[in-house]
Amino acid sequence: MTPRTVTILGATGSVGRSTLDLVGREPGRFDVVALTAHRDVEGLAEAARKVGAGRAVIGDESLLPALREALAGSGVEAAGGRAAVLEAAASGADWTMAAIVGTAGLAPTMAALEQGRTVALANKEALVSAGALMTDAARRSGARLLPVDSEHNAIFQCFDRDHPESVRRIILTASGGPFRSSSLDEMGSVTPAQAVAHPNWSMGAKISVDCATLMNKGLELIEAFHLFPLPLDSYEIVIHPQSVVHSLVEYEDGSVLAQLGAPDMRIPIAYCLAWPARMETPCRRLDLVGIGSLDFEAPDPGRFPALALARSALAGGGAKPAILNAANEIAVAAFLDGRIAFLEIASISGEILQCMDPSPPATIEEVLEVDREAREAAETIVRRYAH
Ligand code: NAD
Ligand code: MG
Repeated sequence: MTPRTVTILGATGSVGRSTLDLVGREPGRFDVVALTAHRDVEGLAEAARKVGAGRAVIGDESLLPALREALAGSGVEAAGGRAAVLEAAASGADWTMAAIVGTAGLAPTMAALEQGRTVALANKEALVSAGALMTDAARRSGARLLPVDSEHNAIFQCFDRDHPESVRRIILTASGGPFRSSSLDEMGSVTPAQAVAHPNWSMGAKISVDCATLMNKGLELIEAFHLFPLPLDSYEIVIHPQSVVHSLVEYEDGSVLAQLGAPDMRIPIAYCLAWPARMETPCRRLDLVGIGSLDFEAPDPGRFPALALARSALAGGGAKPAILNAANEIAVAAFLDGRIAFLEIASISGEILQCMDPSPPATIEEVLEVDREAREAAETIVRRYAH
C-alpha cells in the first residue's frame, strides 16, 4: 500500500499534536509532506524531525532563521510567512488536517479544499463564519470534507450518505459545562477560573468558556447545518453530562444511531486519518459497566441564551454566524480579563447580532472584513459594560 501523503496545518496545537501522535504510530502508512505552526519554532522543528516531514512552515516569517537553525542537518526544508502557509495548504497532499485556530485558518482551509483531495476539518471558524463558501469550494473541487470535531464526526459516522432523505433528526450532545446545575443567580457571579474548569475534556480557555455558556454547542449547530443536508428544525441539542454519546442520528423508522467513545480527540481524528478504513488508537476503551448510567436533559434556554442566539444567526443567514462568532470571541476575552460578567457574554453577542449588517460575504476577504467590524463593534459594547 502506498503511504497516504499528509499535511497538518496547525501542527503544534492540541488537534495537531494528537494527529501527529497517531501518524507517528503507523509511520509506514503516512508520508508527511508539510507541517505548519504560527510561532512555536521548537515544537514545529521537533515534530518535523520526528515524523520526517518534507517541509516545516512557520507562519511568523521573522522566526524563519530560528526554524532554519532548529532544522539544520535534518533534511527538512524550512519556510516562513503567510504565503508559505498557504502554499503548504495547497501542496496537494492526499489528506490535509485543517487545525489552525481562529479566522487565521480560513484562507489555508480554503486553499486545501480547492485541491480537491481530503480535508479533515477542525477549524471551527471555517464552517461557522464561511460555511457556504467552504462547502461550495469543496463541491466545486470535489474535495472530501471530513469533520474532526467529536460531535460532527459522530454524526458523520452514523449518517447514511446514500439515503439522506431517510434521516429525520440530528441530536447534538453537549456536556452542559461546569454550570449545568447552577442557578441563574449563581451564574451571574462566576469567575473565569470556575468557567474554564471543564468537567470532561481538557481544552484551551476560550473554548472552555464556550462550553460553559453553551455557545460552543451553538457554533457546532451552525457547523452541523453546513455539513449535513437537513433543515434547521431537524437539529436538536441535548445535555449529556458524561460526554460518552458524542451525537446521534434518527431515521424515519424510529431507529437512532449513536457514536460512543472515551472523550479523547484522537478517536475522531483517527477516524478521519484512516477514512474510509479504520486504525488502532491507544485511547481508553469504553467501560459501560464502569460508567453505569448515561444521563440526558433538555438545555435551559433561560440560563443558556447562546443556543437561541446561534439558531437565530443561522435562521437570519448571511453574515450573521460570522458576526456572532466574532462578537462572542471579544466578549469571552473580556470575561477572561475580568472586564465583564459571565452572563454578559451572551448579552453582548446578542446586541451585536441585532445591530450589524448581515449581507452575505462573497469571499474569504469579505468574511474577514465582517469579522473585523464585528470585533470592533463588540469592543465598543464591552467598554460600555466593563465594570
Ligand atoms: P490550538 O490553539 O491548540 O492550536 C492552534 C494551531 O494553530 C497551532 O499550531 C498554532 O501554531 C496555529 N496558529 C495559530 N494562529 C495562527 C496563525 N495566525 N497563522 C498560522 N497558524 C496559526 O488549537 P486546537 O485546540 O488545536 O484547535 C484547532 C481548531 O480546532 C480550533 O478551531 C478549535 O476550535 C477546533 N477544535 C478543537 C478541539 C480540541 O479538542 N482541541 C475540538 C474540536 C474543534
Ligand atoms: Mg465539539
